[in-house]
Amino acid sequence: DESPLLRPVMAALAPHTGRAHVVGLTGAPGVGKSTSTNALIGALRAAGRTVGVLAVDPSSPFSGGALLGDRIRMQDHAADEGVFIRSMASRGHLGGLSFTTPQAVRVLDAAGFDVVLVETVGIGQSETVVAAMVDFFLVLMLPGAGDELQGIKKGVLEMADLIAVNKADGGNVPAARTAVRDYSAALRLTQPTSPTWTPPVMTCSGQTGDGLDDLWGRIADHRSLMTATGEREDRRRAQRLAWMWSMVEDRLLDSLRGDPAVLGLLGVAEAEVLDGLTTPSAAAERLLAAFGG
Ligand code: GDP
Repeated sequence: DESPLLRPVMAALAPHTGRAHVVGLTGAPGVGKSTSTNALIGALRAAGRTVGVLAVDPSSPFSGGALLGDRIRMQDHAADEGVFIRSMASRGHLGGLSFTTPQAVRVLDAAGFDVVLVETVGIGQSETVVAAMVDFFLVLMLPGAGDELQGIKKGVLEMADLIAVNKADGGNVPAARTAVRDYSAALRLTQPTSPTWTPPVMTCSGQTGDGLDDLWGRIADHRSLMTATGEREDRRRAQRLAWMWSMVEDRLLDSLRGDPAVLGLLGVAEAEVLDGLTTPSAAAERLLAAFGG
């Protein structure tokens, strides 16, 4: 998954990385990720910040190029050299994204973008992958729907550094306030992402821009706090180690699956396990012994 050609490039970039504020953004399809991202880009540009956006889409059948979301957003920011937007799709192969997305983040970081937004749809495991590579993880929710209704897993709440109930405009405002209370209650039952940070739950509207200044203010507060307590560096250190291990695991599994001795046993072992003729653990022992031998 990681091209050997890329390795020296990433090594050369490494000394120039670490400055960007890397913010992940997730939410169900239609929650308003594109709209909010567009509005946030506008606000950050007005404040003189440069912004890179990576839209990670594990479900997309496209292998690159401009997706629809790109084109919509590019209309506002196409001529702006301080903005770079790219979609990363993987035809459903999440493993690929978990290696290529952090590398793309590092490239934008080294290129000098002040803020790198990594946006992903809240389906499958992509939010877990994104949460593991960012300084701050923002979860967008819809008003008027409890977490069961939205199919949001408890795991997403555990990863959230902030929950924003979007579309809090017009007639949605009362439902959005109710949702804020519901998510605040739900968050009290989960383990926070940091001992010093209580994830705020707030309303916003990507459409009217209401609440977005406050939202970014909280993200900036989080950065100041995490820098001061040393947790920003701790989180990055832990992420680097986790990345190393996921690469080791991936490569080990690849070489195991491609090992001739293992391949010779695999068909029979799988069939015997399926038919209950061998226990899973006995079959695993045999495969691992063949791999080691
Ligand atoms: P995404 O799939 O999460 O990227 O969602 P989009 O940004 O594409 O928005 C989905 C739909 O919701 C679009 O029709 C938007 O115009 C609408 N939408 C997005 N944000 C808001 C908002 O803050 N308020 C309202 N009322 N509609 C919104």
